[in-house]
Amino acid sequence: MRRAAPPRFGLLALALATLAIAGSRAAADPPASADAEHFFDPFVDKTADPRADFFRFAVGKWTHDNPIPADERGWGIGYVIQEETYRRLIGINDDATRADAREGSSAQKIGDFWTSAMDSAAQAKQGFSPLADEFARIEAVRTRADLLAAIAHLKYIGVSGFCRLGVHQDEKNSARYVVHVSQGGLGLPERDYYFDKGAKSAGLRRKYVAHVARMFRLLGDDSTRADTNARVVMALETDLARASRKLAALRDPIKNYHAMTLAGADRLTRSIAWKRFLADGHIDRVDTLIVGQPEFLRELDHSLRTRPIGQWKTYLRWHLAHSFAEQAGGAFDDENFHFYGTVLTGVARQRPRWKRMLDEEENYLGDALGQLYVERYFPPRDRARYEKLTDDIFAAFRARIGRLEWMSAATKERAVKKLDSVIKKIGYPDKWRDYAAYNVDRTSFLGNVVRGNIWQSDYAIARLNKPVDRSEWFMTPQTYNAYYNSSNNEIVAPAANFILPGIADSLIDDAVVYAYAGGSTIGHEITHGFDDEGRQFDEQGNLKDWWTPDDAREFKTRAAKIVSQFDAYVVVDSLHANGAATSGENIADLGGLQLAWDAFTQTDEYKRGTSIGGYTPAQRFFLGWALAWMYVQRPELVALRVKTDYHSPEFLRVNAPTSNLPPFYEAFGVKEGDAMYRGPDKRVQIW
Ligand SMILES: [Zn+2]
Repeated sequence: MRRAAPPRFGLLALALATLAIAGSRAAADPPASADAEHFFDPFVDKTADPRADFFRFAVGKWTHDNPIPADERGWGIGYVIQEETYRRLIGINDDATRADAREGSSAQKIGDFWTSAMDSAAQAKQGFSPLADEFARIEAVRTRADLLAAIAHLKYIGVSGFCRLGVHQDEKNSARYVVHVSQGGLGLPERDYYFDKGAKSAGLRRKYVAHVARMFRLLGDDSTRADTNARVVMALETDLARASRKLAALRDPIKNYHAMTLAGADRLTRSIAWKRFLADGHIDRVDTLIVGQPEFLRELDHSLRTRPIGQWKTYLRWHLAHSFAEQAGGAFDDENFHFYGTVLTGVARQRPRWKRMLDEEENYLGDALGQLYVERYFPPRDRARYEKLTDDIFAAFRARIGRLEWMSAATKERAVKKLDSVIKKIGYPDKWRDYAAYNVDRTSFLGNVVRGNIWQSDYAIARLNKPVDRSEWFMTPQTYNAYYNSSNNEIVAPAANFILPGIADSLIDDAVVYAYAGGSTIGHEITHGFDDEGRQFDEQGNLKDWWTPDDAREFKTRAAKIVSQFDAYVVVDSLHANGAATSGENIADLGGLQLAWDAFTQTDEYKRGTSIGGYTPAQRFFLGWALAWMYVQRPELVALRVKTDYHSPEFLRVNAPTSNLPPFYEAFGVKEGDAMYRGPDKRVQIW
């Protein structure tokens, strides 16, 4: 359904095909609905016409009754579920804080992290003083060698600038971990922000420069110096942005894969000695790199050779402050929120501190919290129920592949082999992360955060030259999200995905469960293994072409159709959806809905055909689908997401796939001339 990305800092960060990205933070009470009969009452807008705008019909009452609060970017189902999760996590934290915990235990770490996180007065007083050595390190840089050593160290502690650096599986040999280097180093959310035309975009750039200048003033620069520094940052980042690929171009796994030896990397970037650079970032015993975008590294090299070292020091100071502004608290936190919250996403005021700090804790102690969460809230019988649902969806996919008319027998055989090899991780991991080496205390929140980043970097680096651990999870059980990971050919669906708003799942009928959890989570993630990107990996998780040329062509023709379908939608003002960048997610949404529908048609509820609460089983199924994507957001956020997000806005995630599905037409009597209608030749079907 939605939510946060994998670890925000450190070398673990990894691009996963997730369900969505929109924030899932909450405050409202879950709608009170006692039984299946009345379950949809708080959501459905009976004055709307499902044939004109199904999203509005299905969830319009709820979105009308629950406007976006002033401190949020959007509002919807994720927030309702997240509210319940927050309530549970607060209980776990309170117990940990009260307990007389043994030094080094999870309870001690959770209690101390929470205590330091909630102490806003101490944070405002400390500001960046816990990072004084890091600022001094930048200040002391004299030569290019010093500069690169400082950059490598800053990457190690989780600073955002320069490039992205990560340790994860080799796309062409999933049995080993390897260092990945790719484009990054920007302070605005995406490269297009630096070049988009129009008064609004130019205004955003001006506000960004003003924000950077204010951050320099908060760091102690006088206003002339701060303004000059901000312009230096903007110029340097604009050069990096110019050398960066566009969002859609990053989806091609072959074109973003360039394995090279360290000597080869040295030839690409003559000013960077990679062995030395990596060693300064605590990465030893490495002889190869996978470079995502060589032209980006060439630009880094060019910029390192031509820009005065002082400009790079200014850029690093900015990224150090930028990366930890929220945790430095006080005026830094406020200024950071002003730009990244209010200007970029239209939110008027900060969310309550306790919610923000629970999110922080999730980044650093997520598994420790998860272990306690699962003990209390996800018993083995729930896991068994959703494992069964997962098996049903897989069976539906297998049957669908068998029926495909456009695919040859040879490719079908490989597709089924890949499907049968998918690892299914449901609910929670079998093995929990060990936090023994992560020291947490009550003296400084920023200190806990930086040590947490170092712990994550050490954890990632320690994996190099070791066998791949395929049991690893990149989300915690209490996360309302899910992912498909190509390298392990696995789907991962944390426990929180299965929470329904305001009702115990023993009371809800299969139509809702199959659409809400089955389609939007399980079916969606399986389909990622077979979307435009995922289909390029084999059953072992290796980037390897297993398609006949004819079948690949047939797939691309169908994928092109979903690109044009989305390109045609206007999402805000005159802004269209980005069909190419979102095609993988849109294919997964369509596939997930179809697979869930197929599996649902095998249930007793469907076969009996008895209406509940005035809706047929088929109608309840599609209403359940809409509920999974119930989310409205500020126009600023819609505009930001079109530039940065591989997921479509939620109203499209409801209306676009349903308008491709004949059973939806039957369920609601959609006819030619209705806005939801697409001619049979325009309807997309891939899987
Ligand atoms: Zn997805």
